[in-house]
Amino acid sequence: MDCTSASNGGSPMFQNPANGQPITYHYFCNFPTCDYHSARSDPVKRHRDTHYPDYKPYTCNYCQASSARRDSTREHCLKQHKDDSENAFRYDSTIPKPEGWIAYEPKRCPWPPVMV
Ligand SMILES: [Zn+2]
Ligand SMILES: [Zn+2]
Repeated sequence: MDCTSASNGGSPMFQNPANGQPITYHYFCNFPTCDYHSARSDPVKRHRDTHYPDYKPYTCNYCQASSARRDSTREHCLKQHKDDSENAFRYDSTIPKPEGWIAYEPKRCPWPPVMV
């Protein structure tokens, strides 16, 4: 037993007391009945938009491309039109939010789930 040599330079690793496996955290989609999750929050936000395929309030001013998210529209404008300024796209506030729409941050939970 040598407890003093555990200097691997990393941050302290939490372990699942049940099986000794390291605990990682994943972000979860909060859409009912959906069990999509990812180690990063961005893919979850992007994935979550697929539950509301018709809600795309952000519209490109150059080509009418639209999307649900400000950052992806801005990315589109930068890539396609070399313009990521505020004038490159617009937010259409007249588009009604779909039923069940919730502004949210993906929930962060241990993955795999800790069995007790
Ligand atoms: Zn989902
Ligand atoms: Zn465009």
